Amino acid sequence: MYEVEITVNFSAAHRLRDYNGKCEQLHGHNYKIQIAARSSSPGKGGMVIDFGDLKKAANQVLDTLDHRYLNDIKPFDEIEPSAENIAAHIFREVSQNLGDQGAMLHSVSVWESDTSKATYLKD
Ligand SMILES: [Zn+2]
Repeated sequence: MYEVEITVNFSAAHRLRDYNGKCEQLHGHNYKIQIAARSSSPGKGGMVIDFGDLKKAANQVLDTLDHRYLNDIKPFDEIEPSAENIAAHIFREVSQNLGDQGAMLHSVSVWESDTSKATYLKD
């Protein structure tokens, strides 16, 4: 099995609504996002997926989140903007943006800080 992974970043504010603690208050994160794709054999050009294609698909999603208040943006106007939910949202959107190649998407990790990350893995 081969795996390729890109790292991208965005900054945003959020607050967790149903939470008793610090993250209940409005605050921001410089999120680090790792997006991985897997394939049992490299395809065209000896690549699982072109890093550029993966970055483009990712940035289309991150552009909608960067420097925003996440609680105002779908789907986080209705669900908690937790690292777990952000990872699942990015996974779904990037997968869609990749079209036929979306099936290769394997995982999206969201780092809220240097020591805390949540990962959404393909079923
Ligand atoms: Zn937070």
